[in-house]
Amino acid sequence: MLVSRKNHPKDTLVKINKDVIFGAKKPIIIAGPCAVESENQFRTIARAVKKAGANMLRGGAFKPRTSPYSFQGLGEKGIKIMRKVADEVGLPIVSECLSEEHLGLFKKYVDMVQIGSRNMQNFELIKKIARLGKPILLKRGMSSSIEEFLLAAEYILNEGNSNVVLCERGIRTFDQSAGNTLDLNGLILIKQLSHLPIIIDPSHSACRPELIIPLSCAGLSVGADGIMVEVHNKPDKALSDGRQALTPESFAKLMTNIKHAN
Ligand code: PEP
Ligand code: MN
Repeated sequence: MLVSRKNHPKDTLVKINKDVIFGAKKPIIIAGPCAVESENQFRTIARAVKKAGANMLRGGAFKPRTSPYSFQGLGEKGIKIMRKVADEVGLPIVSECLSEEHLGLFKKYVDMVQIGSRNMQNFELIKKIARLGKPILLKRGMSSSIEEFLLAAEYILNEGNSNVVLCERGIRTFDQSAGNTLDLNGLILIKQLSHLPIIIDPSHSACRPELIIPLSCAGLSVGADGIMVEVHNKPDKALSDGRQALTPESFAKLMTNIKHAN
């Protein structure tokens, strides 16, 4: 297997630019809203997270919402807003691609392409995204085993693209009272089994802000190569995932905690 550490004992480094390298010593912190809602909203959040020390911006323009009646994202307009603001603040961007229809857009505007939890086994889409040759953030399916997760990554490497960062985003367990369960067992095991960098997404694991700082510290202390976290300037007005969003102030607190913990 191409993802296996057996054939490739050294850690793979995934380079986005000279300052952002996943798998190197320094954890990479990705922050931004669940969904891009407007240029002003994205700029406000981008500036705040950059000031607090984020290395990369996130934001969804095409949103895989559970309900067809929920906000579906700004689409192409959202991607263009992200690129414009990212260039203003000087941070790279990651955004989720849901359809092969949009491959051209992602190729042109995005630094790293996210494959979401719901598409982790959409192999035809995955292969086409892999062929763009861009770095990929592959999120674990919410009910996928570690073997299935690594085999999904194998599809990307098998296309000749080894710039893959894995993301543990919490799995569904019998107890949903604390949201999804951030599988730190899985993270530790994956670090042993594979040479690919792996980050955690405490926002979609915890589904509530008060768990995010402790989960982030826990993940980094067992070897996560970074975190991806949702931040919103007005969580109660957010068009998606407001309940789990950190405010810019609590994001700054998270950054201070991480610095002290490392
Ligand atoms: C996201 O990160 O925006 C997202 C939709 O996450 P997931 O695919 O993990 O649910
Ligand atoms: Mn979200």
